[in-house]
Amino acid sequence: MRIDLRNGLIADFWHDPCLGDTPLYIRFPRLFALESNKVGSVASHFSISEWLWEWRRAIRGGVEQSQFDQLSSLLSSISFSTGPDRWRCDLSSDGTFYVSQARKIIDAKNHATFSVRTVWCNVVPIKINIFIWRLKLHRLGTLRNLESKELFFDISCCVLCDVSEESHNHLFVRCDTSYQIWCKVSRWIDIPIPLWNAVEEIWPWIDTFANQGSKKIIISIIVYSTLWNIWNLRNGIIFKENKVRKSQVFDSIVASSFYWLYSRYHKTKINWLEWLKDPLPSL
Ligand SMILES: [Zn+2]
Repeated sequence: MRIDLRNGLIADFWHDPCLGDTPLYIRFPRLFALESNKVGSVASHFSISEWLWEWRRAIRGGVEQSQFDQLSSLLSSISFSTGPDRWRCDLSSDGTFYVSQARKIIDAKNHATFSVRTVWCNVVPIKINIFIWRLKLHRLGTLRNLESKELFFDISCCVLCDVSEESHNHLFVRCDTSYQIWCKVSRWIDIPIPLWNAVEEIWPWIDTFANQGSKKIIISIIVYSTLWNIWNLRNGIIFKENKVRKSQVFDSIVASSFYWLYSRYHKTKINWLEWLKDPLPSL
């Protein structure tokens, strides 16, 4: 072990963890009880070639002698250098402090980990990404989720069909109303959309369009827009805001997906009229 020495070692010999993680006063309590120089620095315990002790009385045998032998053995492994004292960070192998490593360790302790992969789509607004992220985690405020938190409302079932319990899977893919919306979207993009049973099945389907250039991006945007508008429709009915009506949902899906693509995705030049007719013309 190497300790840098300059103008005396300023570390507290007994209380700072100079040798390992545990301070010496904890490792050798009987010796610490005997020590007169309890708050001295390492330098104050060392002369040119030997360690200096200020015991209140002579060390007796037994535990005291055993602890002294262990401490002597530990200290004999130390060599001093004449370099300046320096801080050493245990987070890195070279003793240097890196903000990035500290950040990773803090994040690993503080952030929850999820098995669901988070994919951020920079072509849609942040609020849509957050909505999709919460949807994937089943953390949206559906009636089933709210009831699991013992929050009860006048409404007892899905407001889109007035029949079934409102869960993530029902609301977005199993509900008859949602199904009709997906069918309209399917006819518009001229691609068959599967009859999903769970929202988790949506992303593998989108992934089947990988390696097809812009096609996957545009399909993702249309799917996100559909999910978002189904959610808005449901909220509008519950909160009586009527921002989106059932008869307007499809138009809103077409319009919002066009707007996101037009303003955020510059790889394709799209035209509103062409978009209405065929959003995936020659991709
Ligand atoms: Zn329903």
